[in-house]
Amino acid sequence: MPSSSTQAACSSSYSFPDQADAFAQHETGLLQTLRRVIEAPAHSAGYGAQYIGGVSGFTENIVQTIPKKLDSPIQNEEIGGADVFTNPEYHDSVLQCLEEIATGNHYNDVNSLELKISRRRLTITNWGKGGLIGKGSFGSVYKGSNEKGSFFAVKEVSLRNKKSLGLLRNEIAILKRLDHENIIQYYGTDQDEEMLYFFLELVSNGTLEKAYKNCPFKESQVSHYTRQILQGLKYLHGCNVIHRDLKCANILVTEFGNIKLADFGLSKFIEDSQSLKPGLGSLLWMAPEVANPKSGGYDFRADTWSLGCAVVEMSTGKYPQYNVRDALALERAIRKGTGPLIPNSLSYTLTDFINKCLQPDPNKRPTAAELLAHPFVNESSCTQPDLSELLFGEG
Ligand code: ATP
Repeated sequence: MPSSSTQAACSSSYSFPDQADAFAQHETGLLQTLRRVIEAPAHSAGYGAQYIGGVSGFTENIVQTIPKKLDSPIQNEEIGGADVFTNPEYHDSVLQCLEEIATGNHYNDVNSLELKISRRRLTITNWGKGGLIGKGSFGSVYKGSNEKGSFFAVKEVSLRNKKSLGLLRNEIAILKRLDHENIIQYYGTDQDEEMLYFFLELVSNGTLEKAYKNCPFKESQVSHYTRQILQGLKYLHGCNVIHRDLKCANILVTEFGNIKLADFGLSKFIEDSQSLKPGLGSLLWMAPEVANPKSGGYDFRADTWSLGCAVVEMSTGKYPQYNVRDALALERAIRKGTGPLIPNSLSYTLTDFINKCLQPDPNKRPTAAELLAHPFVNESSCTQPDLSELLFGEG
């Protein structure tokens, strides 16, 4: 049964009183197909990213125009091209093209799409670029603000840099369909003659990597962050999306200690029981089945391995495999699933948690959902807070 908000969104989307009758039929068919297609890239980010990321700039514009016609909150996504609603001759070929994509993505749940696109997002118009926050390998991130005084992060990439654009568009295709408190919130995009701008929730405290470098983490802090990373991963995997580049540099933390998974440039939608070809990711955090070309493929459990490496990173303040100097030895160790060094100083519970994540055999490695029951992250098994915290609110 669709929810009342879904029904409301559906009914409003079909009322275009000033459209000619002949057109209206085309519109309805197009909209129905597009409802499936717009959602498809989220559930099928690999395919969707390829699709949104440049196979057809023309069709891309349609996908981004339709939500506006549906009065959905998706905004700031005009990336160029003609508005097909003014050009009837395109309708048949567009419909055919979109039908193929929707069928290819096996996506038919129109109501679920309505729920997804009815998310509320910060409206970004009349925005201005502020100071630089940081630079990645593919672009820079700035602080931005809009006419209403809201602040957000702006990731910018040159339109001439095709590789970076592809990654950014993949990230957009994935993030626009995700809605979880432990996943960075996507607000929209904009562009000028030179740059594509990508608006995101601003996480003022930066990455976990920066945080542990500034101030080493206590185990209770690692537990608190890991629980939230797992909640984000559980949601992500439930949406059939694998992150593929999980590490502390790609995890943001707010000043209140809330975790936001970020950097979805390499993420991918996995179709039912699909196994991905080895490769892709950051080597030091890479699961053995991802690093080994002969492994026969990998799935969501590759993220569990990377999580184990990120937990070691948080606990020690060092990159995984920091002790291996020789490149060949490093590659061999990663392919074999040797895993990072776990210092004896860590508690039994934390060591057990890390060892479970770092099972070389992916079939023996627990999922994010299973790991949430582990005593290291299970809230009910946490120790009582310090009395001074209760009395004086000190953390
Ligand atoms: P790479 O893309 O090479 O993996 P990266 O993840 O550091 O590197 P970006 O995602 O471009 O690259 O981010 C650059 C820096 O900007 C990050 O290190 C982070 O400190 C900061 N940053 C990214 N997104 C946000 C955000 N939403 N809010 C606040 N800071 C952010």
